[in-house]
Amino acid sequence: MRRSIVAGNWKMNGNLEVNAELIAGILKEKSSAQGIEVLVCPPAIYVAQVSGLLEGSDIGVGAQNASAFESGAFTGEVSLPMLADFAVRYVIVGHSERRALFAESDGQVAEKARAVLLAGMTPIVCVGETLEEREAGGTLEVVSRQLRAVCDGLDADQLAGMVVAYEPVWAIGTGRTATPEQAQEVHAALRALIAEADGKAGLEVRILYGGSVNAENAAQLFDKPDIDGGLVGGASLKAKDFIAICSAAAGAKVTG
Ligand code: PEP
Repeated sequence: MRRSIVAGNWKMNGNLEVNAELIAGILKEKSSAQGIEVLVCPPAIYVAQVSGLLEGSDIGVGAQNASAFESGAFTGEVSLPMLADFAVRYVIVGHSERRALFAESDGQVAEKARAVLLAGMTPIVCVGETLEEREAGGTLEVVSRQLRAVCDGLDADQLAGMVVAYEPVWAIGTGRTATPEQAQEVHAALRALIAEADGKAGLEVRILYGGSVNAENAAQLFDKPDIDGGLVGGASLKAKDFIAICSAAAGAKVTG
């Protein structure tokens, strides 16, 4: 059985006071979302603060990015062992903003995903097509290329242990969500791609949807058989909305 996950990607938002309020709100409301994995991914500078605030709770902490290198002359970068010092267990890799704004290639994303797995952490590997690519009929080709780059060279346990997030670029931060049917089609294709490499991993790998998920549309998305939760940007910055999305995941079907 696949356990649903809802991950909040705070992006470059927050400060000490706002973070403390948001975490207090999430902890207050969290009891309505049992049985799923919930995590928040603050900016790197606030990982220590948020980890401290969440100590003793069952909410995890993730990073939005990390270096694939362990240490050395990489000015401005943050390594996986540094994040592990602050109880980080998940790392988002290949978010479309990093691909588009920081020119991260499929190869770099794959290196990062491998490094996260080798560090004993869980990569949340983002894939997704632009509007132009969708309109040209290239969605499955693009997301398959992106995912294949990561999967090549991973063993069955690593394939099953990563988390994939399908995030159509045209739906991120735009208020325009993929329909549950559009998302399900891509999720099924991504699962099939992993199943080609290892059948059991295909059944076990968790695939999240991301792109303008909110309290209103979450339940319908999460009800689709291959959607195992969400990667949530804007709506993760409001405790009530975030927990409503978590509750939708907790109430969704059980599959796998
Ligand atoms: C994201 O940042 O991964 C995301 C899905 O953002 P939003 O929910 O705001 O579209």
